[in-house]
Amino acid sequence: PRAIISLEGVNKYYGDFHALKNIDLKVREGEVVAILGPSGSGKSTLIRCINHLEAYSAGDIYVDSVRVQPGPELIEVRKDVGMVFQSFNLFPNMTVLENVTLGPIRVRGMSPGDAQARAKELLEKVGIAEQMYKYPSALSGGQQQRVGIARALANEPRVLLFDEPTSALDPEMVGEVLDVIKTLAGTGVTMLLVTHEMGFARHVADRVIFMEAGQIVEEGAPEQIFSAP
Ligand code: ADP
Ligand code: ADP
Repeated sequence: PRAIISLEGVNKYYGDFHALKNIDLKVREGEVVAILGPSGSGKSTLIRCINHLEAYSAGDIYVDSVRVQPGPELIEVRKDVGMVFQSFNLFPNMTVLENVTLGPIRVRGMSPGDAQARAKELLEKVGIAEQMYKYPSALSGGQQQRVGIARALANEPRVLLFDEPTSALDPEMVGEVLDVIKTLAGTGVTMLLVTHEMGFARHVADRVIFMEAGQIVEEGAPEQIFSAP
């Protein structure tokens, strides 16, 4: 399968600080890639550059052959790329259902009726349908993150980016969120995840990438990466 995400010689500076150093990375359609590495190594910066939440300083990023850059291209890219954040980023003054309905109406131009039907289906899928008329603050962290995943899926993205999706959760809620992500991985969605969950990287990812100081220092199949030297 061809690459759906492609980074070629990508560099990112925050002022004088060189946060990404010549990153080359291709993610194939349907692939699940886990990005591991110490705090501050540039993992979050890397995935935020893919949908241009951060501007990169040099190089090229393509999503499904469209170059990621400000302008009309970015609208296309954002349709194709869903993002799940560490701190959920739900709209606090909208119900769960409204949170998931907004994207399809705005981004996909769906009718409110169709968008609602789709949202309900997705909320069912992530096991949160009973909560759909509640506000995010009434939900546990694990439930909020499942809403975050449903919202990311609502636009029918080709690619899902996860930025430490379980790091803000109480330990007892990590499992329920990982289970949802694992189920998605089995459905052929292309996923790029920053995570500290070694077990998840080992058992669910097709490929594992290690970053250190803005560079990819190791990369391979989990069995290869995690095998004793
Ligand atoms: P990771 O996700 O691996 O923890 P980040 O991508 O968040 O790493 O950050 C990489 C480096 O870039 C860190 O040293 C961080 O302090 C720095 N950095 C991140 N965001 C900014 C910013 N907005 N301004 C300046 N420096 C930043
Ligand atoms: P490790 O040897 O990397 O610690 P474990 O087998 O002990 O791996 O599992 C670590 C974590 O990985 C556990 O928390 C578990 O939830 C998760 N895990 C284990 N097996 C699987 C699997 N088949 N699919 C997804 N996650 C798994």
